[in-house]
Amino acid sequence: MIVTRQKPFEVILKELEDSKSVFLVGCGDCATACQTGGEDQVKEMTEKLSGEGKEVTGSVIMETGCHELDLKKEFRAHKDELGKSGAVLVMSCGAGCQAAREGTEKPVFPANDTLFLGNVLRVGQFEEKCRLCGDCLLDITGGICPVARCHKGILNGPCGGTNEGKCEVDPEKDCAWTLIYQQLEKEGKLDKMRAYQPPKNWNTVLKPGRLVLEREKGGGKGE
Ligand code: SF4
Ligand code: SF4
Repeated sequence: MIVTRQKPFEVILKELEDSKSVFLVGCGDCATACQTGGEDQVKEMTEKLSGEGKEVTGSVIMETGCHELDLKKEFRAHKDELGKSGAVLVMSCGAGCQAAREGTEKPVFPANDTLFLGNVLRVGQFEEKCRLCGDCLLDITGGICPVARCHKGILNGPCGGTNEGKCEVDPEKDCAWTLIYQQLEKEGKLDKMRAYQPPKNWNTVLKPGRLVLEREKGGGKGE
Protein backbone atom coordinates (compact mmCIF):
# COMPACT_ATOMS: atom_id res chain seq x y z
CA MET A 1 0.00 0.00 0.00
CA ILE A 2 1.37 3.40 -0.97
CA VAL A 3 0.68 5.73 1.93
CA THR A 4 -0.33 9.28 1.13
CA ARG A 5 -1.37 12.35 3.11
CA GLN A 6 -3.48 15.13 1.65
CA LYS A 7 -1.70 18.46 1.26
CA PRO A 8 -3.17 21.40 3.20
CA PHE A 9 -6.05 22.90 1.22
CA GLU A 10 -4.26 26.29 0.94
CA VAL A 11 -1.39 24.52 -0.80
CA ILE A 12 -3.79 22.85 -3.25
CA LEU A 13 -5.46 26.20 -3.93
CA LYS A 14 -2.05 27.74 -4.62
CA GLU A 15 -1.29 24.94 -7.08
CA LEU A 16 -4.54 25.74 -8.86
CA GLU A 17 -4.21 29.54 -8.74
CA ASP A 18 -3.99 29.83 -12.54
CA SER A 19 -6.86 27.42 -13.21
CA LYS A 20 -10.50 28.46 -13.06
CA SER A 21 -11.68 24.91 -13.72
CA VAL A 22 -10.35 21.53 -12.73
CA PHE A 23 -10.91 17.83 -13.34
CA LEU A 24 -10.38 15.52 -10.36
CA VAL A 25 -8.79 12.08 -10.40
CA GLY A 26 -9.17 9.79 -7.40
CA CYS A 27 -7.89 6.29 -6.75
CA GLY A 28 -9.98 3.37 -5.57
CA ASP A 29 -6.99 1.52 -4.20
CA CYS A 30 -4.30 2.89 -1.86
CA ALA A 31 -5.59 6.49 -1.77
CA THR A 32 -9.04 5.24 -0.82
CA ALA A 33 -7.56 3.26 2.07
CA CYS A 34 -5.56 6.33 3.13
CA GLN A 35 -8.68 8.50 2.83
CA THR A 36 -6.89 10.85 0.47
CA GLY A 37 -8.50 10.02 -2.87
CA GLY A 38 -11.60 7.88 -2.42
CA GLU A 39 -15.17 8.74 -3.25
CA ASP A 40 -15.75 10.75 -0.06
CA GLN A 41 -12.58 12.78 -0.46
CA VAL A 42 -13.25 13.52 -4.14
CA LYS A 43 -16.75 14.69 -3.20
CA GLU A 44 -15.38 16.81 -0.37
CA MET A 45 -12.70 18.30 -2.64
CA THR A 46 -15.35 19.11 -5.25
CA GLU A 47 -17.38 21.01 -2.64
CA LYS A 48 -14.37 22.85 -1.24
CA LEU A 49 -13.07 23.90 -4.65
CA SER A 50 -16.55 24.97 -5.75
CA GLY A 51 -16.76 27.02 -2.57
CA GLU A 52 -13.59 28.81 -3.69
CA GLY A 53 -15.13 29.63 -7.07
CA LYS A 54 -13.45 26.86 -9.07
CA GLU A 55 -15.51 24.95 -11.56
CA VAL A 56 -15.07 21.20 -11.15
CA THR A 57 -15.79 19.96 -14.66
CA GLY A 58 -15.86 16.30 -13.66
CA SER A 59 -14.07 13.54 -11.85
CA VAL A 60 -13.09 9.92 -12.11
CA ILE A 61 -12.05 7.45 -9.45
CA MET A 62 -9.61 5.01 -10.96
CA GLU A 63 -9.66 1.41 -9.83
CA THR A 64 -5.89 1.76 -9.50
CA GLY A 65 -4.57 5.28 -9.92
CA CYS A 66 -1.12 4.30 -11.22
CA HIS A 67 -2.41 2.10 -14.06
CA GLU A 68 -1.42 4.23 -17.06
CA LEU A 69 -3.35 2.30 -19.70
CA ASP A 70 -6.58 2.35 -17.69
CA LEU A 71 -6.13 5.99 -16.91
CA LYS A 72 -5.71 6.91 -20.58
CA LYS A 73 -8.88 4.92 -21.29
CA GLU A 74 -10.79 6.80 -18.59
CA PHE A 75 -9.50 10.13 -19.83
CA ARG A 76 -10.78 9.27 -23.30
CA ALA A 77 -14.18 8.38 -21.79
CA HIS A 78 -14.23 11.75 -19.94
CA LYS A 79 -12.87 13.69 -22.93
CA ASP A 80 -15.47 16.48 -22.75
CA GLU A 81 -15.19 17.10 -18.99
CA LEU A 82 -11.43 16.97 -19.23
CA GLY A 83 -11.45 19.26 -22.26
CA LYS A 84 -13.35 21.93 -20.34
CA SER A 85 -10.92 21.88 -17.42
CA GLY A 86 -7.89 24.10 -17.02
CA ALA A 87 -6.05 21.58 -14.86
CA VAL A 88 -6.13 18.07 -13.45
CA LEU A 89 -5.89 17.56 -9.70
CA VAL A 90 -4.75 14.05 -8.86
CA MET A 91 -5.80 12.64 -5.50
CA SER A 92 -3.57 9.59 -5.42
CA CYS A 93 0.17 9.02 -4.99
CA GLY A 94 2.99 10.56 -7.01
CA ALA A 95 2.90 7.57 -9.34
CA GLY A 96 -0.79 8.17 -10.03
CA CYS A 97 -0.11 11.84 -10.64
CA GLN A 98 2.51 10.93 -13.23
CA ALA A 99 0.18 8.36 -14.76
CA ALA A 100 -2.21 11.28 -15.32
CA ARG A 101 0.70 13.25 -16.79
CA GLU A 102 0.98 10.61 -19.51
CA GLY A 103 -2.74 10.82 -20.32
CA THR A 104 -3.33 14.52 -20.88
CA GLU A 105 -1.70 17.71 -22.11
CA LYS A 106 -3.40 19.67 -19.29
CA PRO A 107 -1.39 20.86 -16.30
CA VAL A 108 -1.41 18.13 -13.65
CA PHE A 109 -1.14 18.80 -9.91
CA PRO A 110 -0.81 16.52 -6.86
CA ALA A 111 -3.37 16.82 -4.07
CA ASN A 112 -1.34 14.47 -1.86
CA ASP A 113 2.13 13.94 -0.52
CA THR A 114 3.40 10.39 -0.98
CA LEU A 115 5.03 9.04 2.16
CA PHE A 116 6.00 5.36 2.08
CA LEU A 117 5.14 1.79 1.26
CA GLY A 118 3.09 0.82 4.29
CA ASN A 119 1.70 -2.32 5.83
CA VAL A 120 -1.91 -1.93 6.91
CA LEU A 121 -2.10 -2.62 10.64
CA ARG A 122 -5.80 -1.89 10.82
CA VAL A 123 -8.16 0.55 9.14
CA GLY A 124 -6.39 3.90 8.91
CA GLN A 125 -3.13 2.67 10.47
CA PHE A 126 -0.04 2.11 8.37
CA GLU A 127 3.55 1.25 9.14
CA GLU A 128 6.62 1.16 6.94
CA LYS A 129 8.20 -2.29 7.04
CA CYS A 130 10.03 -2.35 3.71
CA ARG A 131 12.07 0.35 2.00
CA LEU A 132 12.19 -1.46 -1.35
CA CYS A 133 15.96 -1.90 -1.17
CA GLY A 134 16.15 -4.34 -4.06
CA ASP A 135 18.24 -6.94 -2.22
CA CYS A 136 16.10 -8.47 0.50
CA LEU A 137 17.90 -9.78 3.56
CA LEU A 138 14.91 -10.97 5.56
CA ASP A 139 16.31 -14.50 5.29
CA ILE A 140 19.09 -13.61 7.73
CA THR A 141 17.10 -11.35 10.04
CA GLY A 142 14.22 -13.59 11.04
CA GLY A 143 11.80 -11.90 8.64
CA ILE A 144 12.17 -8.48 10.32
CA CYS A 145 13.72 -5.70 8.26
CA PRO A 146 16.44 -3.59 9.86
CA VAL A 147 16.74 -1.41 6.74
CA ALA A 148 13.22 -0.08 7.20
CA ARG A 149 12.49 -0.69 10.86
CA CYS A 150 15.76 0.31 12.56
CA HIS A 151 15.94 4.11 12.71
CA LYS A 152 19.62 3.97 11.79
CA GLY A 153 19.13 1.26 9.21
CA ILE A 154 22.09 -0.62 10.64
CA LEU A 155 22.83 -4.12 9.38
CA ASN A 156 24.86 -5.28 12.36
CA GLY A 157 22.75 -4.35 15.33
CA PRO A 158 21.65 -3.48 17.82
CA CYS A 159 23.31 -0.14 18.40
CA GLY A 160 24.35 0.86 21.90
CA GLY A 161 21.16 2.79 22.52
CA THR A 162 18.53 0.09 22.63
CA ASN A 163 16.73 0.24 25.96
CA GLU A 164 14.44 -2.48 27.28
CA GLY A 165 13.46 -3.44 23.78
CA LYS A 166 12.73 0.12 22.69
CA CYS A 167 14.58 2.30 20.21
CA GLU A 168 16.70 5.17 21.50
CA VAL A 169 15.61 7.38 18.60
CA ASP A 170 11.91 6.82 19.23
CA PRO A 171 11.12 5.13 22.56
CA GLU A 172 7.56 4.56 21.33
CA LYS A 173 8.90 2.06 18.83
CA ASP A 174 10.29 -1.40 19.35
CA CYS A 175 13.98 -1.76 18.58
CA ALA A 176 14.08 -3.70 15.32
CA TRP A 177 17.28 -5.46 16.33
CA THR A 178 15.79 -6.61 19.64
CA LEU A 179 12.89 -8.06 17.66
CA ILE A 180 15.34 -9.74 15.31
CA TYR A 181 17.28 -11.19 18.25
CA GLN A 182 14.11 -12.52 19.88
CA GLN A 183 12.93 -14.08 16.65
CA LEU A 184 16.27 -15.73 15.86
CA GLU A 185 16.48 -16.99 19.44
CA LYS A 186 13.06 -18.65 19.00
CA GLU A 187 14.30 -20.27 15.81
CA GLY A 188 17.55 -21.41 17.43
CA LYS A 189 19.51 -19.38 14.89
CA LEU A 190 21.34 -16.82 17.01
CA ASP A 191 24.51 -17.62 15.07
CA LYS A 192 23.03 -15.38 12.35
CA MET A 193 23.30 -12.44 14.76
CA ARG A 194 27.04 -13.04 15.02
CA ALA A 195 27.65 -13.12 11.28
CA TYR A 196 29.06 -9.85 9.97
CA GLN A 197 26.94 -8.18 7.33
CA PRO A 198 28.90 -6.09 4.82
CA PRO A 199 27.67 -2.60 3.88
CA LYS A 200 24.60 -2.74 1.71
CA ASN A 201 25.03 -2.47 -2.02
CA TRP A 202 22.57 0.25 -2.95
CA ASN A 203 23.27 -0.23 -6.67
CA THR A 204 20.44 -2.76 -6.60
CA VAL A 205 17.99 0.12 -6.32
CA LEU A 206 19.34 2.45 -8.97
CA LYS A 207 16.48 4.76 -9.90
CA PRO A 208 14.26 4.81 -11.80
CA GLY A 209 13.26 1.19 -11.15
CA ARG A 210 12.00 -0.78 -14.08
CA LEU A 211 10.75 -4.32 -14.46
CA VAL A 212 9.63 -6.04 -17.62
CA LEU A 213 8.22 -9.52 -17.19
CA GLU A 214 9.42 -12.07 -19.69
CA ARG A 215 6.03 -13.65 -20.24
CA GLU A 216 7.05 -16.63 -22.32
CA LYS A 217 9.49 -17.76 -19.62
CA GLY A 218 7.21 -16.75 -16.74
CA GLY A 219 10.09 -14.96 -15.01
CA GLY A 220 10.94 -11.33 -14.48
CA LYS A 221 13.83 -9.09 -15.39
CA GLY A 222 14.62 -6.07 -13.26
CA GLU A 223 16.91 -3.18 -14.07
S1 SF4 B 1 15.66 -5.94 3.23
FE1 SF4 B 1 13.98 -4.72 4.02
S2 SF4 B 1 13.92 -2.95 2.65
FE2 SF4 B 1 15.08 -4.54 1.61
S3 SF4 B 1 13.54 -5.61 0.34
FE3 SF4 B 1 13.76 -6.76 2.29
S4 SF4 B 1 12.14 -5.93 3.60
FE4 SF4 B 1 12.42 -4.47 1.92
S1 SF4 C 1 17.78 1.21 19.23
FE1 SF4 C 1 17.43 -0.51 17.81
S2 SF4 C 1 16.03 0.26 16.20
FE2 SF4 C 1 16.83 2.03 17.36
S3 SF4 C 1 18.56 2.73 16.14
FE3 SF4 C 1 19.40 1.31 17.72
S4 SF4 C 1 19.38 -0.73 16.76
FE4 SF4 C 1 18.12 0.61 15.49
